[in-house]
Order: sequence, then structure tokens, then C-alpha cells
Amino acid sequence: MMRSDETSNACAGAGLLSIVLPCLNEAAVLPATFDRLSLMSSTLAEWGLDYELVFVNDGSTDETPELLDRLASADARVRVVHLARNFGHQAAVSAGLLVARGEVVAIMDADLQDPPEVLPAFLGKWREGFQVVYAIRRNRKEGALKRAAYWTFYRLLNAISEISIPLDSGDFCLLDRSAVDMLNQLPERQRFVRGLRTWIGLKQIGVEYERDARQAGKPSYTAGKLIRLAVDGLVSFSNVPLKLVTRLGVLSLLASFIMGLWVSYAFLYDKQTLRGWTSTACLILFMGSVQMISLGIIGEYLSRIFVEVKGRPTFLIARITQRRDGEDVGENADDHANERVRTRREANR
Ligand code: UDP
Ligand code: MG
Repeated sequence: MMRSDETSNACAGAGLLSIVLPCLNEAAVLPATFDRLSLMSSTLAEWGLDYELVFVNDGSTDETPELLDRLASADARVRVVHLARNFGHQAAVSAGLLVARGEVVAIMDADLQDPPEVLPAFLGKWREGFQVVYAIRRNRKEGALKRAAYWTFYRLLNAISEISIPLDSGDFCLLDRSAVDMLNQLPERQRFVRGLRTWIGLKQIGVEYERDARQAGKPSYTAGKLIRLAVDGLVSFSNVPLKLVTRLGVLSLLASFIMGLWVSYAFLYDKQTLRGWTSTACLILFMGSVQMISLGIIGEYLSRIFVEVKGRPTFLIARITQRRDGEDVGENADDHANERVRTRREANR
């Protein structure tokens, strides 16, 4: 386990709000996102806060990397983390959290589905002393099928998980530096950020908001990616599926015992021969399906153990883009970020 000062950002900025924005092929919407966030600067100044925008380019294949680099060279408040390839949304958010320097950090989607105008409400709660302020979606502007899937997932997760993850809360949130440091310390590689965020505890509160429709571009979360995220959330925060195997085992044992009694009775008292094929068939089918389900569940966990044992880092940073004006960036930000990545990787070994 690491000490907190190892991950704690050496240049953690007092009076600085870091906004972490994971981006995968968001070139169509990024200029609008940047403009809308820039509009927030006077509001944030009223809160006595300066801000930095930490864009995490999660292996984009469109013009996103060039566009972000251009934004960074034009505005010193923009920092861009280019991941070496597409590591997925949760890894991109984790990378952003590791690199963010603010005393308070916001996580939001780059496609303007999470309106920046909600930030003051978050900051209000933060100033009241909450270390984790998460957004609760009041309504979703998505298809009925997707909405139903989300609804079911969050209720299922809550019913079987070891922690109580707030219903309908996504990754959109505001985190105090202390919460960010805690999250950065967690060695878990398959990171279900909203679950880990709940798991760390501290003072948490939800704020309701209207989730907008995507402003431009296409959603990169495919059905497959969403299902994987749901399975990650369910398996990494619940051992109920594993327990199910034992319960099924006990049930099948009971069933086969009763069947055994019935077969023995038929053998002793029913003189007609050629008995037993029905019960044998039932038995084979029953045992077969129980074994298949059980193996499937065990496999889920096994595959995760496998990934953890391999010990690969959650992400690899290829480079960090930031304009150096000299006076406000005293040290080399790249070295700092990579040093933190390195310490974390070593500590995980
Ligand atoms: N994203 C990412 N890596 C991925 C998939 C998505 O960084 O592999 C980003 C994406 O650019 C966006 C956010 O995560 O800023 C949410 O993705 P998307 O809008 O596709 O998901 P949805 O809003 O449909 O849940
Ligand atoms: Mg979106």
C-alpha cells in the first residue's frame, strides 16, 4: 500500500479547480465544450477559483489530438494527457485524476451532456464541507431501451453490491483533493470509478441535474462497452454471483437426493422394467445446466484475478501537452505526472 503523500499532487493548487474531460474522437464537439467552459471563468472567479482543463485524449483517431494540442498552446489553462492508445473511459478518467493539480477536481464528459453550469451548485456543497458531490440524472435524453437497461442495472447493483451506489449517478462529480488522493491510491486496475468513489466514503452528497443530449459527434460507448462496464461494476463490488454457485449446488444436491428416493422406490415396488431413462435424462440435463452456470460465474471472477495477477498498469501516458510560460509552471509537469505514475506502478507490484 502506498502512503498518501506519494500520490498527493506535489503542486496541488490552492484556489484551483481542475476539470477532467475524457475524450474519444470528440473533435466535432470539443470547440463548443471549450467555449462553454471558458464562459464559466467569471463565475468561478466569484468563488475565488481559477481553473485548469485536463483533457485526456483516450487514443482518439480523428482530429481530437491536434485540436487539443492547439487549445493547449493557445491557453495555458489547458493541459492535455495523451494516452498511448484507447484504454477506455474509466481508465481515461483515472489518468485525469492522477494528473489533475487542483484542490478540487470535477469529472465531466467532453460531449456537453454534463452541463458545466451545474458546477456552482456542486461547489456550494463542497464549500459546505462535502468531499464528494456527485450528480444524479433527473431524466435521460436517451432511447427507452437504454433507459430501461440503466434503470435495471443500478437497481440490481444496489440490491447485490457490498456498497450502496447512489441510483442514477454517473461519473459526473466534484471531488475534494483528499478524495482524489484516496482514489489515486487504490491499486485496482479494472476501475469502476463511480463505485470506487462511493467505496472511499468521506462526506458525500448528490445533486440532481438534467442530463442534456450529446451536442455533436457520436457516442463512443457501444452496447458492448456498456455491458462490460455493467459486468465490471457488478463483479468488482459484489460476491453474490459467487455465492449463488454454492446455493445452486445445495439445491441440486437436494433435488438429486429426492430423485434418488423416487428411483429407488420405483425399482423396489414398480415391477415394470426399463425404468429410469426419464430420471437419468432429467438428471443429466439438470446437472449439466447447473455446472454450466456455475462454471460461467467462476470464470467471471477467474478472468478478473487473471487481469490483476498480470499486474499491467491501468494506462500508459505517452506524453503530456502543456504550454510553458515559465513563471507559473515552475517545474516540469511531465516529470511530475510520470513520476506519480511510476511510483504508483511500483507500489502495485
Ligand atoms: N470516452 C472515452 N473513452 C472511451 C469511451 C468514451 O474517453 O473509450 C469519453 C467520451 O469521449 C465522452 C465520455 O467518455 O467524453 C462519455 O462517452 P459517450 O458520450 O460515448 O457515452 P454516453 O454519454 O453515451 O454514456
Ligand atoms: Mg455522451
